[in-house]
Amino acid sequence: MSPQELRRRLEYIQDLGIHDLYRRPPQSMNIELPSLAPVGDTLPGIIQDIGECTRCRLHQGRNKIVFGAGNPEAKLVFVGEGPGADEDAQGFPFVGRAGQLLTQMIENTSGKEGIPLKRADVYICNVVKCRPPENRTPEPDEMEICGQFLFRQLSVIRPKAICALGSTAAKALLGGKDGVTRLRSKWHKWREIPLLVTYHPSYLLRPYNQNAKREAWEDLKKVLHFVYD
Ligand code: URA
Repeated sequence: MSPQELRRRLEYIQDLGIHDLYRRPPQSMNIELPSLAPVGDTLPGIIQDIGECTRCRLHQGRNKIVFGAGNPEAKLVFVGEGPGADEDAQGFPFVGRAGQLLTQMIENTSGKEGIPLKRADVYICNVVKCRPPENRTPEPDEMEICGQFLFRQLSVIRPKAICALGSTAAKALLGGKDGVTRLRSKWHKWREIPLLVTYHPSYLLRPYNQNAKREAWEDLKKVLHFVYD
């Protein structure tokens, strides 16, 4: 509702003689969170638990749940923020412009470094599995609810390293408020798994980010050599 509509609605209520309004406490969302990864957890088991998820408001605008894709036994997992329009339409992560850049980054950098690696050899997923409206940043509660499934995915795959793409993935996996510039190029850990943070490919697509592009290539070389040497 626009501010003008709200004002008209309130004036109408006042005309009816009602002068006090009380805010209803937020309705409890029917959220069921798995507390811990079940013993013997599997990727298909997580997909089954997600089901036709309505645990947060993001389900309202989605077409497809974007679970993740790639090698379920990958040594390297890339974690992005959340699906965009192309991913929401197709049900696969990083298939739009940012995804093409991510594929190039993975395949070109590994090729130049003498590491025979294709995109299909790694695993790619996101913090939230449904597209946020207008591609906005996921809200903390959405990240918390959906993050449980990300954590289970990472626990099942148990890669040798994780590469967090952008600050939303970094926040979801490391906590804290630091952005990519502070976190990148150093090793961190997510539950004992080495984790490197780098720029999100969408950020690198902006025309004035030459320096960030160079830095992202350095980060990628670092993570590829760590995992595949
Ligand atoms: N951006 C993301 O963070 N994830 C995708 O899957 C696509 C774009």
